[in-house]
Amino acid sequence: MPPTVETLLRSTRVVLPEGTRPAAVALSGGRVDAVLPHNATPPAGWRLVDLDDTALLPGLVDTHVHVNDPGRTPWEGFATATRAAAAGGVTTIVDMPLNSLPPTTTVDALAVKRDVAGPRAVVDIAFWGGAVPDNAADLRPLHDAGVMGFKCFLSPSGVEEFPPLDPHRLDTVMAALAEFDALLLVHAEDPARLDAAPAPHGPRYADFLASPPPAAERDANARVLDLARARECRVHLLHLSAADPLPLIAAARRDGVRVTAETCPHFLVLTAEDVPDGATEFKCCPPIRDADNRDALWEALADGTIDCVVSDHSPCTADLKTPDFGTAWGGIASLQLGLPAVWTEAARRGHDLADVVRWMSAAPAALIGLDDRKGAIAPGRDADLVALDPDATLTVDPAALHHRNPVTAWAGRTLRGVVRRTWLRGTDITPGPPLPTAPTGEPPSRPTGRLLERTRP
Ligand SMILES: [Zn+2]
Repeated sequence: MPPTVETLLRSTRVVLPEGTRPAAVALSGGRVDAVLPHNATPPAGWRLVDLDDTALLPGLVDTHVHVNDPGRTPWEGFATATRAAAAGGVTTIVDMPLNSLPPTTTVDALAVKRDVAGPRAVVDIAFWGGAVPDNAADLRPLHDAGVMGFKCFLSPSGVEEFPPLDPHRLDTVMAALAEFDALLLVHAEDPARLDAAPAPHGPRYADFLASPPPAAERDANARVLDLARARECRVHLLHLSAADPLPLIAAARRDGVRVTAETCPHFLVLTAEDVPDGATEFKCCPPIRDADNRDALWEALADGTIDCVVSDHSPCTADLKTPDFGTAWGGIASLQLGLPAVWTEAARRGHDLADVVRWMSAAPAALIGLDDRKGAIAPGRDADLVALDPDATLTVDPAALHHRNPVTAWAGRTLRGVVRRTWLRGTDITPGPPLPTAPTGEPPSRPTGRLLERTRP
């Protein structure tokens, strides 16, 4: 790794916790040393980088990424995923515990993950553990080994090695996690509601959309909130697609339940009306819903009911995206495009870059307890930074994407906001062009990223 050079970054639009203004940001020893007036001159020996009107943001923290490595590396590996992250202005990812083999449900499996990820990390990587029916004895050891929290499902996850928790086990897990104040992440769709709905089948998006009804999310989130209240367990609700649970979340929070919630770029930007029949690159679970629902998600972001916007990057090989919504793999890959996608729609709705930074950097950093190091441009924080031209546009070309299988729901879409450069602890990690990748081979990478562990509670 090249030695860290002390650098002064100057921009007329630095997005700081107190607002966006002209400033010069001094980077030293991989951290933000000081935020100075825009016309500050660099000390002797320092490098000056003048970004003019290109905005300077804290690096994004994406707490919902499925890397699939090892075991399903042809779907996505750490080298390709972290390059995609760097290209998209994401400087920290948190890897989900499922879709890799083994899933991250034991300390041994976490060690395997870390061994694979470390040499390939372009950005910083942290890990979620998994809570499954048979690993009650592994939760505390995983917590002590540094996972950021635990993910569980209430309905089938899509892979058989990561089964869901039934209501009784969910209660048991919450009681156990509350003992050491660990965070539980829940994919909350009610299995009975899913079973009662028509099974997804065929190429019509309307048929797929009817298969997971909004009530499945509402009922499952209601159950999670009731148990969180009873067990005093911290919970985080994953990828809200339907607006139906929002009033329940707001009410629980008013009652003092420690609950946070996220949604994803595809739910905020795309709508069911946009999805052509047979276009299973748009399939994810829960699904992209209609435009009125999308408006409600934006209102919930604006009023703080939803805290975080994260990608749920969940790629697969192209052959698994069959043209039948019943059989196609459910997952959308947005790691590289989340920032421009969300900024495009946020700007159209009158939000500013500080809002986007709050949803995509500060709040996710706080979720994993790293808000003393990540999530803001402030003295003492890691110099994880993104230069974003907020007025430039790009038209998404799959060939320009770095994740391993550039199947994308965003192809051909014109987005506002172009990432020009990304720094991790002061080192420029902006990737060159996408690497040619063999179906199962790992492209070479320079491990600029570190593996992070939970530091609190
Ligand atoms: Zn996911």
